[in-house]
Amino acid sequence: VEQYLIRIDEHRDLNVFTEVYADEARQQADAVDQKLASGQGGRLAGMVIGIKDVLNYTGHSVRAGSRILDNFTAQFTATAVQRLLDEDVIIIGRQNCDEFAMGSSNENSAFGPVRNAADTSRVPGGSSGGSAVAVQAGLCLASIGSDTGGSVRQPAAFCGVVGLKPTYGRISRWGLIAYASSFDCVGPIANNVDDAALLLEIMAGPDEFDSTVSSEPVSAYSQTTLPDRSAGAGPLRIAYLRDGVESAGVAKSIREATQRKINELRAAGHTVEPVDISLLTYLLPTYYILTTAEASSNLSRFDGVRYGYRSASTNKSAMDVSTPDLLTLYKKSRTEGFGAEVRRRILLGTFALSASYYDAYYTKAQQVRRLIRQETERLFEQYDFLLSPTTPTPAFKLGEKTDDPLQMYLADIFTVQANVVGYPAISIPNGADAEGLPIGLQLMAPPFAEGKLVALAKTL
Ligand code: GLN
Repeated sequence: VEQYLIRIDEHRDLNVFTEVYADEARQQADAVDQKLASGQGGRLAGMVIGIKDVLNYTGHSVRAGSRILDNFTAQFTATAVQRLLDEDVIIIGRQNCDEFAMGSSNENSAFGPVRNAADTSRVPGGSSGGSAVAVQAGLCLASIGSDTGGSVRQPAAFCGVVGLKPTYGRISRWGLIAYASSFDCVGPIANNVDDAALLLEIMAGPDEFDSTVSSEPVSAYSQTTLPDRSAGAGPLRIAYLRDGVESAGVAKSIREATQRKINELRAAGHTVEPVDISLLTYLLPTYYILTTAEASSNLSRFDGVRYGYRSASTNKSAMDVSTPDLLTLYKKSRTEGFGAEVRRRILLGTFALSASYYDAYYTKAQQVRRLIRQETERLFEQYDFLLSPTTPTPAFKLGEKTDDPLQMYLADIFTVQANVVGYPAISIPNGADAEGLPIGLQLMAPPFAEGKLVALAKTL
């Protein structure tokens, strides 16, 4: 703990932690020491982690990177976090992220941007940027982030660490501040696949507080091995996204690094074949229609009355519903409390759900989501894994895409599919480009095949 506290202090410029629990972490460490001395330490005894600022932890502030949760204190602990605490993890602090997990660069935070430790003029990715840099810079051993369209995997790729998004419903969402409920997943970020698998294993499983969580048994993901080829098991069938190694929209360094892994897998005797996702161009539109719709509904609870920030420019009588002042209170609190990207998405989502446009946008996007799922299911009838780069480019410069949301959204082109269909996917480091910027490789597997997914990831 002391070691990490020193490093956190030395790297304040990266803007990773929005709050450091120094004294509390020391106390937790003492308690863990005592347990270990009596042979009772949990499976994570001594593991120092950080949590993204969207996970509730009783008695601690939680802000979702937003002004609107100013002065808000969590009333309960997220199931995922509680399960880690039950195994004696030590939580060293709360990590900066894009506001309400909306973003791909960590520039949408009320606490200011996070910087990539590989090159501080560059973004760490988002929205779990703080969580990825924390691991990259050695400010804690692992982090817990959330992934709605790539927010664990894309920053992991930009920072040269491992990021795992489980199957939808594998980990309870209880206590995770909602962005888009039918996409949101809690996921670990770590230095290696083993740590990520162990954290997943402990966080996963049924929870009476989340009706969408799966009752599928949790296996020992960190112990799973691939079928033994020397004992006669056939080769793995791996599809790779043709665009990932051929499209001019993907950086050359990334295409080459991906191709090298493909060659490696072929040399190991596996079947590795190119595939096209015919609905690829519809992935981002579908994702953004559905997630903004869900977000506009989820974020309606932040009204300046029940939680956090309330505009100072509304008068006391605002609480009287008979006066138009209540509306003013809502409007001013939400306008001042939410940042530009969150406001943009609430507007987009509200539009998509409005009576006149619901069928044209929301219903249509749901239909396309179904088609994408069917196409993905068909693909996985023939293959065990789908491989691609995690991102089309390495980490870009701070400010480079802030004026162009559509360019920013493209950073998720390879990651959103897993969320649209609910499949598990992992990003692992795949070398670096000539400038030393990390490159990520993504593997996707069918639902609840996390064991096989991490087993293959380990070999790569
Ligand atoms: N970058 C994507 C977005 O802005 C994904 C975010 C996420 O996974 N939370 O929506």
